[in-house]
Amino acid sequence: MPRKTTRAVNIGPVTVGGASPIVVQSMTNTDTEDAIRTAAQVADLARAGSEIVRITVNTEAAANAVPEVRDRLAAMGLEVPLVGDFHFNGHKLLTAVPDCAEALAKYRINPGNVGRGAKRDEQFAQMIEIAAKLDKPVRIGANWGSMDQELLALMLDDNAKSKHPKPLDQINREAVIKSAVDSAARAVELGLPAENIILSCKMSRVQDLISVYQDLASQVDYALHLGLTEAGMGSKGIVASTAALAVLLQQGIGDTLRISLTPEPNGDRTKEVIVAQEILQTMGLRSFTPMVTACPGCGRTSSTYFQVLADRIQTYLRDSMPDWKASHPGVEDMSVAVMGCVVNGPGESKHANIGISLPGTGERPIAPVYIDGEKAMTLKGDHIAEEFQDIVSQYVKTNYTHA
Ligand code: SF4
Repeated sequence: MPRKTTRAVNIGPVTVGGASPIVVQSMTNTDTEDAIRTAAQVADLARAGSEIVRITVNTEAAANAVPEVRDRLAAMGLEVPLVGDFHFNGHKLLTAVPDCAEALAKYRINPGNVGRGAKRDEQFAQMIEIAAKLDKPVRIGANWGSMDQELLALMLDDNAKSKHPKPLDQINREAVIKSAVDSAARAVELGLPAENIILSCKMSRVQDLISVYQDLASQVDYALHLGLTEAGMGSKGIVASTAALAVLLQQGIGDTLRISLTPEPNGDRTKEVIVAQEILQTMGLRSFTPMVTACPGCGRTSSTYFQVLADRIQTYLRDSMPDWKASHPGVEDMSVAVMGCVVNGPGESKHANIGISLPGTGERPIAPVYIDGEKAMTLKGDHIAEEFQDIVSQYVKTNYTHA
């Protein structure tokens, strides 16, 4: 389905919304006070393909470290926009550390964590006025794990008095949306242009997220940031995020996304970037890196050789992309097939730019290679993996090099 038109928001060199491609974001998990480690992780995320990176800004020392993080990235040749994630004390930090306010490309403000009572409006206004003065975009990011409790209490009271009270879950969903939408309206009143506002309403359950974003998208035309909050670890986090986001993206909802995976202890933070890219690429919405089609294997394969080869080729392609992006434009659309036997091997290989059909159990120990739909050569012996990688590399040089 075509994407809905939304306002375009410029965040440094990146545009979110409007006619722009859907943008991939990520977030660091380092202590921002440690500028060296934070800059290194932002660099890893950016090199993996994160187009915007959010960092925690929770203390004055963290705020003081932000310009150094930005400068270290610039010294590495990376211009990735940094988003400051503020909760509870953002008004104080943005006021006390103007260099931080300036170094950040965008602020993320959670309306549920701005303050209580009379202080809430005052502290929200302080942050919005700084953003407006410095021409910084703001993501107003409501999250049902940190709801605006006063708003929720009011809505629950009204519901209790209603003749036909709604289920509690529905009030929760409506409260998250109202919190974001009302805060955006207040920000506009305070002088922040609507073109500098992105909204998000993060939920942790798939059906809640789908329902909330469908309602939100029908009410506003701000650019929308998508993400299933607290998605979880491993396959559960990936599957839940994909299930929710795929439905919304297919409906044209969402201008930027983050996959909130919990990494394994000391795990690779860049996994969330790769998953985000793969969701967009497998849905045909953007291309980032050549994709490998591989069969699952079955009783016709007597070894894991084809799995090893598929993994080796996918890793080779992904690792090559930072260089290839500049030197071999268009290569991100290339497809490669690595198949386990003759049943679907030749057919699937012919559909790919390059495919290899490895011998299954009982087949002759040869591996035909197909290039652009035609059988081009046959590999055999102990070095099939190396030879196939060389063929892929040569194909890239021949077909995706600047004229
Ligand atoms: S291509 Fe061959 S090895 Fe792969 S799943 Fe199909 S039958 Fe099994």
